[in-house]
Amino acid sequence: MVLLDGKIAAASVKEELKHITEALLEAGKPLPHLVAILIGNNGASETYVASKVKNCEETGFRSTLIRFEEDTAEETVLNKIAELNNDEDVDGILVQLPLPQHISEQKIIESIDPSKDVDGFHPSNVGKLVQGLPTFVPATPYGVLLLLAHFNIVTNGKHAVVIGRSNIVGRPMSILLSSNIPQGNCTVTICHSHTTNLTEICLQADIIVAALGKPAFVTPNMVKDGAVVIDVGITRVTDATAKKGFRIKGDVDFESVAPKCSAITPVPGGVGLMTIAGLLKNTLQAYTNNRG
Ligand code: NAD
Repeated sequence: MVLLDGKIAAASVKEELKHITEALLEAGKPLPHLVAILIGNNGASETYVASKVKNCEETGFRSTLIRFEEDTAEETVLNKIAELNNDEDVDGILVQLPLPQHISEQKIIESIDPSKDVDGFHPSNVGKLVQGLPTFVPATPYGVLLLLAHFNIVTNGKHAVVIGRSNIVGRPMSILLSSNIPQGNCTVTICHSHTTNLTEICLQADIIVAALGKPAFVTPNMVKDGAVVIDVGITRVTDATAKKGFRIKGDVDFESVAPKCSAITPVPGGVGLMTIAGLLKNTLQAYTNNRG
């Protein structure tokens, strides 16, 4: 069984990016600049944004974190995004989700200039993705593709089952795996909360991507021998024995499923790290498109 270690694969992507930023610096060119907007005090969001900023530093990207209070008016955020859209020194803009309830996620996503939409959530970028045109691939599915590539996992002609149909993970993942790209060309089944025969479908899968947000949901009776299992799930599960009072759990019951797999991702240390690698690659792409 191969452990699809996100630390190793992400380090390799970051190394490649670092060489590029070093070359830019030597040439006296500006460095790629990512701006992250964080609204409110969601603990998980704070951790994700801090990690994005830290990874920018490690790879030589510039980053700016803009924080707004939980009760900030939607218009204030929209005005800031408009300002960043017009700022030539900003390459990528991301607004950390989820947002406070009074702010429309869709409005925020659509307000970001598609050429700076490094999360790849803008409808015009999603449309391009569906049509197989160059675009920003949403960071998490992008990270999964980078992970598959790093470990030379063959996807061509395989049956992939994606559990979850969200706009940020499951749906773009299903489209990418079915696309005519190096880590694609799968026959894809996309499952969701209304799927009735999930176990039966999963048992047919050569590749399972679990992205539903239910800890240890995928159990050995759902996995055929030799399957590749990609666990996207990240859930904080209360644990009084843990230092922070919680542990991060994936959607796959790793201990019992791993022995059946030809390859599997750990949680933590798997897809989460690759998501940041995907985001950084998108930021560099935005930089190259806009001022390269
Ligand atoms: P979401 O809640 O938006 O979507 C969950 C999806 O799972 C839905 O489409 C739903 O139909 C499906 N689902 C729910 N219960 C199901 C069931 N019993 N059977 C089949 N399908 C079911 O979640 P999301 O934003 O897509 O995130 C999914 C998980 O991935 C979460 O744990 C989230 O924290 C994690 N996540 C991880 C990363 C990362 O970097 N690793 C990034 C984004 C999200």
